[in-house]
Amino acid sequence: MSSDAWTAERKYEEPRAHAVRERYLGLFSGPELPVPVEAIAGDLLGLRIEEFRDIDCSGMLLPKVRRIVLNAHERATGRDDPPLRRFRFTVAHEIGHWVCHCLSGRAPKLEPSYCRAVDLTDAADRTLEREANVFAAELLMPEPAVRPSSWVSSGVTKRHERPCRRAR
Ligand SMILES: [Zn+2]
Repeated sequence: MSSDAWTAERKYEEPRAHAVRERYLGLFSGPELPVPVEAIAGDLLGLRIEEFRDIDCSGMLLPKVRRIVLNAHERATGRDDPPLRRFRFTVAHEIGHWVCHCLSGRAPKLEPSYCRAVDLTDAADRTLEREANVFAAELLMPEPAVRPSSWVSSGVTKRHERPCRRAR
């Protein structure tokens, strides 16, 4: 498949996700897969990851304290089983908020992101959540490593798992 076809096949493109991953690998090296998403958050971006049981969403980004909070209940209920690895996706999603919205100045007040995408009503919020999902999918799936044509034709590239469902 040509690179043009690959691009056309993909609905979204988020170069910042690839830039972040490549910057991490350039600084810290190590294997490309699985993408070391927790180390990218912690070592590269200085975001601390914590888990709590009593939160009503999959994940939160607390920009002012540079913290990602994950819903420990989802791990306990098996939603973190492979191959979904919801926690990894949620971490990548919150990194997306940090890179695309906080560092870029699009979230100038650095308000927390409470990530549960299914019932958002504000159009701007939906846009931000969608961007964070795209960022996460592309961060976790480096293009050269996951590019076989059979994978593309299976439609996997079109489905981005949403991390933001309610915990219950
Ligand atoms: Zn979100």
